Amino acid sequence: MGSEVRKLVIIGSGPAGYTAAIYAARADLKPLLFEGFFSGPAGGQLMTTTDVENYPGFPNGVLGPELMLTFRSQAERFGTDFVVEDVAEVDFKTYPFIVKSKSMQVAAESVIIATGATAKRLDVPGTRDGEFWQKGVTACAVCDGAMPIFRDKPLFVIGGGDTAVEEATFLTKYGSKVYIVHRRDELRASKIMAQRAIDHPKIEILWDSVISKVEGDDVVKSVTIQNVMTKEESNHPAGGVFFAIGHQPNTAFLNGQIDAHENQYLKVKPGTTQTNVEGVFAAGDVYDHVYRQAVTAAGSGCMAALEAERWLSSREGQKTSAEISS
Ligand SMILES: Cc1cc2nc3c(=O)[nH]c(=O)nc-3n(C[C@H](O)[C@H](O)[C@H](O)COP(=O)(O)OP(=O)(O)OC[C@H]3O[C@@H](n4cnc5c(N)ncnc54)[C@H](O)[C@@H]3O)c2cc1C
Repeated sequence: MGSEVRKLVIIGSGPAGYTAAIYAARADLKPLLFEGFFSGPAGGQLMTTTDVENYPGFPNGVLGPELMLTFRSQAERFGTDFVVEDVAEVDFKTYPFIVKSKSMQVAAESVIIATGATAKRLDVPGTRDGEFWQKGVTACAVCDGAMPIFRDKPLFVIGGGDTAVEEATFLTKYGSKVYIVHRRDELRASKIMAQRAIDHPKIEILWDSVISKVEGDDVVKSVTIQNVMTKEESNHPAGGVFFAIGHQPNTAFLNGQIDAHENQYLKVKPGTTQTNVEGVFAAGDVYDHVYRQAVTAAGSGCMAALEAERWLSSREGQKTSAEISS
């Protein structure tokens, strides 16, 4: 696989990358997919969760890792080649494009970037992997809020921006009460959103506060909140903790070669997955800072593969006779 030219290289192995691979492989583009390694588990964010209850086609829900293995097998079945490595560097100024990992370099006629985003978490005792992460501590209210463990329990949302208010409002459908824990005395959310939280009968804002500990048995049972002004700590019964402090799109390896928004999510032409570099497409959470769901990521992976295929075909049609004979 060393120095060959691939028609399509896909970077990232979540729902977006695997779906792009399924479509591209079926279109005979023989995609090469970098699944990642140090960047996170192959399969993406759903590998870190248990039940996925909102992915269509699974009326009884499905485990995240199980769902992603089925995506992968489907991509494999149609002839996707996989590399279990992170892409360390790309060169989109040359054509064919160059994609490099630690052990290999590939030339690519088109590229789909599907490297997702990482939910930011605070390093609070009790919230880490192996503690209560995914046992009541999560970073996605829309994904997890409806789970039975959160029903009719006091829930704590950590953050103070629009996302925190949105998540808290969403959680009022399930929790007995929702607390927003915010370290300042004013929300960062837009005025209208902030007022919505303040007025909501089921939401209480704990101002000037941080979460300092999460405890429980099999699942979360209580949280300790510290007032940052007085340093006083208080213990509260809790059924869940939701980090809502933003996401970091995984784009560092692009080294600024793809235009991005201020929040670092990649820019695409509206209604498409086309980036500012012709032949380079973006799919999934790496550009979608609005929906951030598996089904939308998969949908945009499909779009990116179809757009890549059409772009390659149109380019094929425009090739000069010198290019064709070389
Ligand atoms: C805990 C949790 C629970 C969730 N539950 C649900 C749910 O129930 N329902 C739902 O619809 N959504 C859920 N989501 C959201 C959903 O997981 C994401 O929207 C979806 O996974 C995004 O897919 P993606 O393909 O864009 O990226 P990701 O799933 O983030 O996958 C990107 C992949 O690219 C890899 N990668 C990153 N950088 C590189 C690189 N340089 N080279 C190669 N590979 C790289 C990463 O390691 C990762 O494997 C949840 C998210 C979390 C965190």
